[in-house]
Formats: sequence, structure tokens, C-alpha cells
Amino acid sequence: MNTIISDETILLKGKPVSKHIREKLTSQINELKIKRNIVPKLAVIIVGNDPASQVYVNSKTKAFNKMECASETYALPAEFGESDLIEIIEGLNKDVSVHGILVQLPLPKSMNTRKILMAVSPFKDVDGFHPLNIGHLFEGHPKFIPCTPNGIIEILDFYNIETDGCHAVIVGRSNIVGKPMFGLLSQKLRKGNATVTMCHTGTKNLSYFTKQADLLIVATGVPKYITSEMISENVNIIDVGINRIEDLNSPKGYKLVGDVDFNNCIEKANSITPVPGGVGPMTITMLLNNTVISAQKTSIK
Ligand code: NDP
Repeated sequence: MNTIISDETILLKGKPVSKHIREKLTSQINELKIKRNIVPKLAVIIVGNDPASQVYVNSKTKAFNKMECASETYALPAEFGESDLIEIIEGLNKDVSVHGILVQLPLPKSMNTRKILMAVSPFKDVDGFHPLNIGHLFEGHPKFIPCTPNGIIEILDFYNIETDGCHAVIVGRSNIVGKPMFGLLSQKLRKGNATVTMCHTGTKNLSYFTKQADLLIVATGVPKYITSEMISENVNIIDVGINRIEDLNSPKGYKLVGDVDFNNCIEKANSITPVPGGVGPMTITMLLNNTVISAQKTSIK
């Protein structure tokens, strides 16, 4: 199951984890269709023409099609009005055929992101970004868990990485990765019960903390930021970062790298996620998972 890349280092690939979860989802989706005539459906809203966002949205809808779930995309111009957008969201909140609503971020600067995210019904908030769902998570009773941190929990579980009693250090405190990751790892939940330290740009002497980590989770958006001098032997590393850097040897002219200097850290770590192919494949799978959960609940109402 595990890919050993040196005598000690295990490569934590996301694809086998994702495949395992999608197999379970396939039978749940079939059951919903056969027993209740329900097809899990996601509504995606994208505002403006940010190329990266368009790629992400296409990947999401492709994954839903592949799993024979439904999706519809609302592609709106950058100058679309905030109140008109809220009206669309309110319509989707009421539409019983829609189980998940996703607003692709970032939104244009003219829009109030928090206000828009709060307009999404917490019962259809499959991204897990609504303050109510964040509150449930921190209270210890998660409903919809943000997809990337949830995918990381699945990776830790699949590869039997112990978190109970370990010191987990998270670098980055964003609402979509760092903060919910803190909530999950610090609680008495599956793959939780860790002592968690959260670092950010205000952290003085970052290495002092990263060197103490048994589990190091990095989500900064700074390419190859963590080097071998900053980690200790036998650390398990989850690299969330996806950064494009120039690569003249590649036909595309760039390559993807993480926030961890992979080649530099690989010998020292106990395990590490590759970029690409580590956390990346998990995010969309957990979005499918949340949408299926929502569809299952809708049918009971
Ligand atoms: P954000 O920009 O929202 O947050 C980055 C965080 O890292 C901030 O809290 C920031 O601190 C902190 N940070 C930035 N630079 C440093 C530094 N030099 N030292 C310490 N802390 C620092 O990013 P996201 O969380 O949205 O994304 C992070 C990375 O993960 C990106 O590369 C992104 O592409 C990737 N990503 C990958 C996903 C996947 O599916 N694999 C999903 C989501 C993101 P401060 O708060 O002080 O500014």
C-alpha cells in the first residue's frame, strides 16, 4: 500500500486514498439512486475569468460527471452584482434538487466574500466555509468539514500515521486550510488528539517550532519554503502547497512544486506527500463526499 522511496521515507500519495473513498461513494450514490431516486447534485458559482479558478471548476464538474452525479455551473461576469449573486444563491438554497452549493474563491475584489459565503445555506455548504459549519467543527461536532483538511485526515488514516499525543505544527492559518486543520487535529476525533501549534507570518523563529513537529502541515503558498534544516528526523510531512514555478525544461514552461523543498527534505522525513499527487487528489473527492452526505440527509427531511 505504501510507497517506500528510501530505507525510511514513505511517499504519501493521494490517489490510492482517493480511489478507496470513491469506491465507497460509488455504492452510496447507487443506493441513493436506486432506493430513493436521488442524484447528488452540486451547483458551482464562478464569478469573473480567473484562469486557475476555471481549471478548478472544470476539474470539479468533471469529477461529478465521472461519478455519475449531477452538477451545474453558473459562470458569471466579474461585474455581476453582489445582490444578484445572493439572489441566485437563495434560489439554489430552496431548490430541492441541489444538495451542494459551492462558490469558487477568490471572488472579485468588489464583492464581500464573507457576506456571499454566509448566504449559502449551512445545510448545502459542501465546502464547509459557512461560520456555522466552522463553529460545529470547533465545538467537536463537525457537519460539513472543509475539503482539504478533511482529505488530509483521510491520508493520515489511510497510511496509519499516529496523531494521538503527537505534536502537530501547522504553518499557515487560512480559513480553508490552516484553521480547520487546527480544529480537527486538536480534538478527540479520528486522527485528532494532537498537541497543535499554529504558525504564520507573525511567528518568530519558525524553525524553532517546525523542528519540534512530529507532524508538519504546511499551507503557506510560498514555494519550497520548508527546508531540511527546519525539520527533525522522522517527521511526517503534509505539503498542501501548489505553486507554479518556471521550468524551461518543461514544454509548459513551468512545473508544480509544494511549500516544502521535497528533494531537500525527503531523506530526513519519515513520510511526505508529493506535489503534485499528494493532498491535491483528495480535495475534490472530499467535495463529492460532502455532497453525497448532503443528498443522504435531504432525503430524510
Ligand atoms: P492563504 O494565502 O490564504 O494563507 C497562507 C497562510 O500562510 C497565511 O496564514 C499566512 O500567514 C501564512 N504564511 C504565508 N507566508 C508565510 C511565511 N513566510 N511564514 C509563515 N507563514 C506564512 O493560502 P491557502 O491556505 O489558501 O493556501 C496555501 C497553499 O495551499 C497554496 O499554495 C495553495 O495553492 C495551496 N492549496 C492547495 C489545496 C489543495 O487542494 N491541495 C487547497 C487549498 C490551498 P498570515 O495569516 O500571517 O498572512
